[in-house]
Amino acid sequence: MAFNFADTQSLMDITSRPELVFVKGEGSWLEDHNGKRYLDVIQGWAVNCLGHNPKPIVEALNKQSHLLINPSPAFYNLPSIELAKRLTGASVFDRVFFANSGAEANEGAIKLARKWGQKKRNGAYKIITMDHAFHGRTLATMSASGKEGWDKKFPPQVDGFPKAILNDLDSVRALIDDQTVAVMLEPVQGEAGVIPATKEFMQGLQELTREKGILFIVDEVQSGYGRCGELFAYQHYGVTPDIMTLGKGIGGGVPLSALLAREEVAVFDHGDQGGTYNGNPLMTAVGVAVFDTLMAPGFMDSVKARAAQLSAGLLKLSDKYGMKGERGLGLLRALLLDGDYGNELVAAARDAVPEGLLLNAPRPNLLRFMPALNITSEEVDLLLARLDDLIAKVRK
Ligand code: PMP
Repeated sequence: MAFNFADTQSLMDITSRPELVFVKGEGSWLEDHNGKRYLDVIQGWAVNCLGHNPKPIVEALNKQSHLLINPSPAFYNLPSIELAKRLTGASVFDRVFFANSGAEANEGAIKLARKWGQKKRNGAYKIITMDHAFHGRTLATMSASGKEGWDKKFPPQVDGFPKAILNDLDSVRALIDDQTVAVMLEPVQGEAGVIPATKEFMQGLQELTREKGILFIVDEVQSGYGRCGELFAYQHYGVTPDIMTLGKGIGGGVPLSALLAREEVAVFDHGDQGGTYNGNPLMTAVGVAVFDTLMAPGFMDSVKARAAQLSAGLLKLSDKYGMKGERGLGLLRALLLDGDYGNELVAAARDAVPEGLLLNAPRPNLLRFMPALNITSEEVDLLLARLDDLIAKVRK
């Protein structure tokens, strides 16, 4: 298919993009405008948990689009009720609010914690978040994030997000005062380079937040929904948070996210939270299909098996080339390079012929892997073999 890249000039220039356009996808594979195929182990940044265009999603979209696309968030609809029932049934939470993006779910979590602070903690509003955290690109979620340089981008920041150090409980304890209402973190920091919280830290946070009578919030937008080998990442840690946010995988590629809270924390008054597309049945019908696929017998076992295979393969590569190991939880993993050549690897992998490989380097010294949860064993082997060739070529 011929494509004129001058046409891209009408799009707002917000990031540097390579000169290729994807036109088709299936499972772990994408096809560009020239018919070249790419093995995709990024999957829209961990979004397409069932790969590209999976049958359950295509069928759910098709079926729901013939029934009802958008009644109005002012009325109940069946898919939203179904999905909320499934999510509360499978988790420690009692109430769900559906939104459209991870940032919007986190914005809701921040508002809910502040509301709870107004009602139960004399107006306490500060939410302790972590250095290097990523919670989204709205103004409040950017302020909650600990990404380097973000505090200078759109001043003034939203007030009330003191930063602690991940896996350092004393750094959290030192920040708690009578204005503190919650601690919020990603169980695995994704954008920071796949840095898991330790079990000791998560359990310590649970004890500390209970002791101080404040809320424990987990942002599972990237680490939730089967990504870390359990349906929810907090389950891996054996903790029971008060609020959780979900995004990315929950919609398997369509704009769907969720804010979940325990009953005693779900204190919004009418009018506090909402939005035109909240609980849109086209999206929540997809959510039901994704949930049921993840919960089918054997699905999570196979996620664990692929995660073990990928982890062992990455470690082998690290040993072969004298790199700094690999880390992660489930199918959210990183290979720690022995130099700052991650971006060269990404470009060489993408441009490889006859087939490309889509990689991601959130930092120049590491590669992040977030393949489809149903990637096959053969595709993991292919990824590792192609990675081996690329490293040999690029690493000098
Ligand atoms: N939280 C986390 C942990 C994320 O990784 C991301 C996206 N990378 C977000 C929030 C924001 O999600 P969205 O881009 O859907 O707003």
